[in-house]
Amino acid sequence: MSRIGLPLFIVLAVKSVWQNYISSSEVLGLLELFRRMVNESLRIGLANDVSSLRRLSLLSYNELAQHDSPSYYKLCAISRAAGILAARKKSIRRGYATKTPYSFRQQLVSCYGFKIRSGALRFPVSRGKRFCIPLTKHVLEVISQPGVEVRSFTLTQNRLSLCIARDAPTVNRASTVGVDRNLRNLTVGNDQETSRYDLSKCVRIANTTARIVASFTRDDDRIRTGIASMYGKRRTSRVGHLLHTATKTIVALAVQRREAIVLENIEGIRSLYRKGNGQGRKYRGRMNSWSFGEAQRQIEYKARWVGLSVIRLSRRETRATSITCPRCGERLQSDKRLTRKLWCGKCRVVMDRDMVAAVNLARRGRVRFARSRPPIIEAQGGA
Ligand SMILES: [Zn+2]
Repeated sequence: MSRIGLPLFIVLAVKSVWQNYISSSEVLGLLELFRRMVNESLRIGLANDVSSLRRLSLLSYNELAQHDSPSYYKLCAISRAAGILAARKKSIRRGYATKTPYSFRQQLVSCYGFKIRSGALRFPVSRGKRFCIPLTKHVLEVISQPGVEVRSFTLTQNRLSLCIARDAPTVNRASTVGVDRNLRNLTVGNDQETSRYDLSKCVRIANTTARIVASFTRDDDRIRTGIASMYGKRRTSRVGHLLHTATKTIVALAVQRREAIVLENIEGIRSLYRKGNGQGRKYRGRMNSWSFGEAQRQIEYKARWVGLSVIRLSRRETRATSITCPRCGERLQSDKRLTRKLWCGKCRVVMDRDMVAAVNLARRGRVRFARSRPPIIEAQGGA
């Protein structure tokens, strides 16, 4: 959703902060109870073909009466089930295959009944009994920032996650900066300046993981899948960390310079590298292990948190961004001898392909926001 051009100056930004903790047997019992309540609501929702929160509450609240749990956990379980059912409905509408939803993980999500007092989260586990989790220094630091409000908490067997929200006043943007995402780098820039964040380590990590997983010789699918998923998680967290460092700097600099971030729409990129498209197996593997979506997700939520606008250009708006000369608009020529370098015959200069793309994205984003300036200001000026 684009906020550009709307006369809105406060945006509700949401993110989460988490820590590890040690659960007691009572908490584990509560997590299991919550899982069962979610599954019961799912069953009722499926049987009656209901996915709206209101109707699901009417149907399942009484059915959950037998469970000995504070009533607000029941409401939260129903709300969670409604969320799962709505997501399933959306998938079906879009033509994706879906399984019958069932919650396997023991967890508790609640937006009611908890308190944060003297550095700890307190919440009821059963009637009249409360559990207390001391919050870590990091979590306390994040939630004590001005304007931050804790909206809900999520518990799993060993992790506590707090969902926090903040009314972020929008940063008044003076210009734009384009972010071009590539396999080996993120290139950020506009007419004034471009910089590159090296991510070739992500490719190396992905390659190592692929090599390790391919080397498994054990003839047992289940164990192989289990170990592969362990390596996959490790890869995700390592790549995620590298991306975090880069996206944090990108957003911080953009705020400092009051630049709206311009991204290209990458919808449908997965379908580009599929079997039968005439690409090699290795190339497809490399392109599909590219975490382009993650970089975008991080930039977007970090930008929203600080009230910075993000402009997502459509396919049409980003056409030929990486082969058009940002100076004269001429189509650039590639040079076989130089990789990722382009030549403009008119300006007679060699340019870097990624930087060209970033500058062009910034330009086209600026065109968009110049077009969509709120007309209110002009009307007042004219009157
Ligand atoms: Zn040129």
